[in-house]
Amino acid sequence: MAGRCHVVLIGPQGSGKGTQAARIAPRLGLVHVATGDLFRQLMTRDDELAREVRSYYDRGVLVPDDVTLRVLLQRLDELERETSDSFRGALLDGYPRNRAQAEALDEVLRDRGDEIAAVVHLVVPRAVLIERLSGRLICPQCGATYHVRFSPPKTPGRCDHCGSALVQRSDDTPEAIARRLETYEQQTEPLLEYYRARGLVVDIDGNQPIEVVTEAIYAALEPHVGDPV
Ligand SMILES: [Zn+2]
Repeated sequence: MAGRCHVVLIGPQGSGKGTQAARIAPRLGLVHVATGDLFRQLMTRDDELAREVRSYYDRGVLVPDDVTLRVLLQRLDELERETSDSFRGALLDGYPRNRAQAEALDEVLRDRGDEIAAVVHLVVPRAVLIERLSGRLICPQCGATYHVRFSPPKTPGRCDHCGSALVQRSDDTPEAIARRLETYEQQTEPLLEYYRARGLVVDIDGNQPIEVVTEAIYAALEPHVGDPV
């Protein structure tokens, strides 16, 4: 069986990473594999790995890197089995987050005969991220989400669906957001350096309309990934 070519997507919260992943993956013939989604799916199961992850949740501790990697590999194995030869590779979203995870991933991919074809780095100025993230509003009743500037409710401060008063999440204050972005940058710099040394990183200006960003990613990836079959 020929090795798969995976693409890693890296970008801060608010960069539109999830949106772009969903748009780009099918066009490139890749499967969008988001670590957050994998954990949510895992919680509906009762196999050994699910029980292990649940035990960390129950104790309120972070899931260790090697366990997260096993969750990811389990999904790649499933995709191999379910789609067999039509599976060209994954668009990885949410893993690796730091250099140690990237090194561990390389090792297991090598064992599988797979490789990373490219790393897409979505670049958005910090001030723009803070504006995007601090304007988010959520309905505590039905869970609908809004943005004061980009997707405002019809009546200011009221949910379109159920009329409840909208609230800002406590971790969406500008100070809390700035702290999260700081942590992200500290982890991501060495990760990007690691991939840059191998010529894998394409930097994409994420501060543009969604369609423009998608086209830029697609154009940058085409030479790395080739045409979808
Ligand atoms: Zn509502």
